[in-house]
Amino acid sequence: ATAVVAIDGPSGSGKSSVSRAVAARLGLRYLDTGAMYRAMTWWMLTNGVDIHDPAAVAAASDKPQIVSGTAPDGPTITVDGRDAAGPIRTDEVTKAVSAVSAVPEVRTRLVDLQRAVIGAGGIVVEGRDIASVVAPDAPVKVYLTASEAARAARRNAELTGTQATSVEDTRADLARRDALDSGRAVAPAGMAEGAILVDTTELNREQVVDHLLALVAEHVR
Ligand code: C5P
Repeated sequence: ATAVVAIDGPSGSGKSSVSRAVAARLGLRYLDTGAMYRAMTWWMLTNGVDIHDPAAVAAASDKPQIVSGTAPDGPTITVDGRDAAGPIRTDEVTKAVSAVSAVPEVRTRLVDLQRAVIGAGGIVVEGRDIASVVAPDAPVKVYLTASEAARAARRNAELTGTQATSVEDTRADLARRDALDSGRAVAPAGMAEGAILVDTTELNREQVVDHLLALVAEHVR
């Protein structure tokens, strides 16, 4: 299994649930690179590193041991041996992650870890720079997006029950994070050359999954 399926897109595009479903259907592994940036950010926050001081973040970037499990039906992430799956989804981490992910040393470290996990392939990898930086030779590169309103509604539905918030707050947070991610100097988020645009605004999850399965069948032998 040498297939590498690269799935990039902004927050709330439905990347995670779609990527996991595609991996499960094809018997491939799954890697959530956003979780790794979140894990790095959580470590910085819990270890007293000022996330708005890029030099301090850079100096600490090789310290956390981040390990990602790649089962699509139960991806795991640990930091220094501790389960980080819950803490990396807090509002505090979500608000801080774009500052940390803009630091070049952080990206170099995590891209190395991601390439080691990808290895010989057989994996669906989701993130912001998979097609442009991490795996530019992937046979299938998808850029998933949706209108800002659709993305805010979806993200808000995910948060319901955990961290109650208004759709308007969610929309503002997504817009702020996307502006930071696509405006950074190193590996700015966006659609890579050779990627296939899939606009999911009018599609439900099953339709997106079916569309991606067809793209994989077309591009991977
Ligand atoms: O995908 P998710 O929203 O969990 O990603 C969290 C953050 O991690 C993004 O807002 C972005 O700052 C960063 N990220 C990145 N490159 C990736 C994946 C995520 O910079 N490949």
